[in-house]
Amino acid sequence: SLGAMQDWTMRISHVIDHAAREAPTREIVTRWADGNETRTDWAGIHRDARRMAQALQALGLKPGDKVASLAMNHARHLVSWFGVAGMGGVLHTCNPRLFEEQLEYIVGHAEDKVMLYDAAFQPIIDKMRDQWPTVEHYICFDPPEGSDVTAFEDWIGAQDGEFEWVAGDERDPCMICYTSGTTGNPKGVQYEHRSTVLHALAGLQPSTFNFSASSVMLPVVPMFHAASWGLPYAGAMAGIKFVFSAVNDPAVLDEMMKKEGVTDSAGVPTVWLAHFQYCDANDIELPKLRAATIGGSAAPRFMIERLMKNGTRVQHAWGMTETSPIGTVGGPTADWDEMTFEQKVEKTMKQGRPIFGVELRTVDLDDRTKVLPRDGEASGALQIRGPWVVKRYFKAEEDALTADGWFDTGDVAILHPDGTMQITDRTKDVIKSGGEWISSVELENAAVGHPAVAEAACVGMFHPKWDERPVLFVVKKEGRDCTAEDVVNFLSDKVAKWWLPDAVEFVDDIPHTATGKISKKDLRDRFSDYTLA
Ligand code: ADP
Repeated sequence: SLGAMQDWTMRISHVIDHAAREAPTREIVTRWADGNETRTDWAGIHRDARRMAQALQALGLKPGDKVASLAMNHARHLVSWFGVAGMGGVLHTCNPRLFEEQLEYIVGHAEDKVMLYDAAFQPIIDKMRDQWPTVEHYICFDPPEGSDVTAFEDWIGAQDGEFEWVAGDERDPCMICYTSGTTGNPKGVQYEHRSTVLHALAGLQPSTFNFSASSVMLPVVPMFHAASWGLPYAGAMAGIKFVFSAVNDPAVLDEMMKKEGVTDSAGVPTVWLAHFQYCDANDIELPKLRAATIGGSAAPRFMIERLMKNGTRVQHAWGMTETSPIGTVGGPTADWDEMTFEQKVEKTMKQGRPIFGVELRTVDLDDRTKVLPRDGEASGALQIRGPWVVKRYFKAEEDALTADGWFDTGDVAILHPDGTMQITDRTKDVIKSGGEWISSVELENAAVGHPAVAEAACVGMFHPKWDERPVLFVVKKEGRDCTAEDVVNFLSDKVAKWWLPDAVEFVDDIPHTATGKISKKDLRDRFSDYTLA
């Protein structure tokens, strides 16, 4: 028979109830696209979420129905994370940078009924409306003065907030996120109330985001990207102060960080790069953050060094939409204090260790049934399992798992004896030269350390003798110059000799995906006629 503890379904509504009860006056600050600033608190988010849940019911929405958002980070978007889940709905956060065909596909595939959006995306709405037959209601978070669209504040303002959260199973879905689909159509990952609560609990830990009531977090990672790494939920659990900016301008971010006493931030490497450039160009100091989480792509050495020298703890994290997204996070280990600065940087360049709830293994790239040792040397296909890892994509006919129940991430990694995971590549990007693997990521990371290199992407190109050889595409920093030879010389003491690129090509720009990552697929397409002499 069972034990005898209380029933307490792991639902998102508990998270927002807790925040409003235990941290009612902790502030949620928003800097809007028009420059205005508003302040609310967890009690305010709670009240508005209940009014929103009522307003959704008034539109006839039922549990399980999908509500889309096309919006940046702000308090009203946060309200909808809790309001939609609170009436049993499923929030579908759409990435506004997706191509038109992708936006048409994901909204249709999810069968979204309501579209919540920022005024900045009105042009997308106008263009897509006819291609989104399932959407019955459009609600604008921040309509400009005098416009005739439905304003979010008016819409929820018509409700009294006397609302009991809709109860249900903890395995019910609460959010759906689509992968940006570097190949084929985007795929939907349906997070559950339970998986979200567990993931958020894991996100709070000292070895993850290290949240407490004294944390002030400005998440730069957008709410439309992999659930903003789960920060809104973990932040609510810890009752932290949130500072949101609806614009990703480094000048605004810098001002908000300094003005609002921000202690923590999180974003992809390019965000930090932009911040460095802004501070350097204006001869001002970087904000003195307690911790900076970097993830989404590999954090390069110079970035880690600079943040650490500034007194900021760097939490290098790895994850993906399919994993809610946190998989591993790097933080100080037991031997941290005995390590030299250089050793700390080396360690931080790896992607950290799995948090509780995440299991990792690597398997042989050519023989996927062969599990590799965690010896710090063997590099293989990274597989993951745990309660917040996808089992089956939305509307798919089959599970997305191996025969023995693991999800193959598409990444190539090395597992170290101390549990540290090191991403070496993506399966489709590794370069196979003469039967041996070369890590394109490592070459790129080393190359961006060159003072004249702004961005670098490494791709395997056909070679008659070696099958593939690395070619490095480089964007130079403005006003800086270097030759192919300089770059290769610079790399020569940083990677194995036989890894050195056969060619360095200077380009004006490198293509990016909708989530701001280098798109090797587009780069390969652009250079499909390329031949190595
Ligand atoms: P997509 O890139 O398709 O939009 P995600 O945003 O979910 O999808 O990205 C997940 C992928 O990003 C991972 O599979 C991995 O390749 C890459 N990634 C995430 N974090 C890191 C990291 N810290 N270092 C290197 N690669 C990373």
